Amino acid sequence: MEVYVTRRVPERVREELEASFHLRYRDSEQPPTRSELLSGVAGVDGLVTMLTDRVDDELLDAAGPSLRVVANYAVGYDNVDVEACARRGIVVTNTPDVLTRATAELTIALVLALLRRIVEGDRFLRRREPWIWAPTFMLGIGLEGRRLGLVGLGRIGLEVARLASALGMEVAYATRTPRCDVPYEALSLRDLLAHADVVSIHTPLTQETHHLIGAPELALMRPTAILVNTARGPVVDEEALADALEAKTIAGAALDVFEREPEVCARLLALENVVLCPHLGSATLETREAMGMLCVSALREVLLEGRTPANAVPTQSSH
Ligand code: NAP
Repeated sequence: MEVYVTRRVPERVREELEASFHLRYRDSEQPPTRSELLSGVAGVDGLVTMLTDRVDDELLDAAGPSLRVVANYAVGYDNVDVEACARRGIVVTNTPDVLTRATAELTIALVLALLRRIVEGDRFLRRREPWIWAPTFMLGIGLEGRRLGLVGLGRIGLEVARLASALGMEVAYATRTPRCDVPYEALSLRDLLAHADVVSIHTPLTQETHHLIGAPELALMRPTAILVNTARGPVVDEEALADALEAKTIAGAALDVFEREPEVCARLLALENVVLCPHLGSATLETREAMGMLCVSALREVLLEGRTPANAVPTQSSH
């Protein structure tokens, strides 16, 4: 069976893939160009795709009828037209659970980096500014007793809630469906935005969540509140966010994801009260290996065992 891997993966994952499949392996950290991707997929049985690879009708046509499984190396699958795959009987899989802890940890790290002014302090020292310890020097904000408002309370949101609770934060959340299995307060999105000191986004990117946080939503936030996004860039209207930050109608933002990755809005780069991270939510070796191993087992299940993997993503007909 032939599998196309669109990007370099950890060595252990490559070895496991090679043990079961004939690989077309792109040994590069750079994504393929669209034409490279379209020619690379021709005639393959399986695909390992990254969130930057758009899987749509055009790509599926280019792959041809042999393609049976798309293993997306991410939990989010907004880059994949799942219905187009379903129409052709192609299984799409993602990598849930194994990256939950790493992404939740990065979220807490970003909150601390911003509220305790760690990145700002680092920049300050590297500029060789004069300084001395003083009771009023570069004061930040502690987490204890602060209100954390989670937009989305799935796997990652719930882990952020657990870690934040251990740090003494009060947690509330907004989802479409309130959960009865959690000890956190469910609020409407409007109430959550008006109430939270820290608003953190943990929804998938869908048509419904595109620009879920725009100018009207930012206007509901408190002037002392910060916005954290470790979900997907387009969930936040980046220009509206830059407006709010420049006008100081909110106090800061910490972002791991961007609307037009890898581009970062120049207005955000210019602001001191913004912490930026190059999409590192799941970026630990053990997590990236575990994500890769989920892709390997999905490919094996579909192509070698004729089974549907547990991490197959739902289609409209399976709802
Ligand atoms: P999940 O378990 O599916 O949770 C998604 C949550 O979002 C659910 O609570 C869902 O609840 C809520 N939601 C969906 N649509 C909503 C809406 N319109 N308004 C409010 N809430 C909504 O997903 P997960 O594993 O936690 O991952 C979440 C996302 O994080 C992924 O899709 C991915 O894009 C992103 N992510 C980023 C990184 C990174 O590197 N930065 C790493 C991993 C994941 P309801 O359906 O009840 O609304």
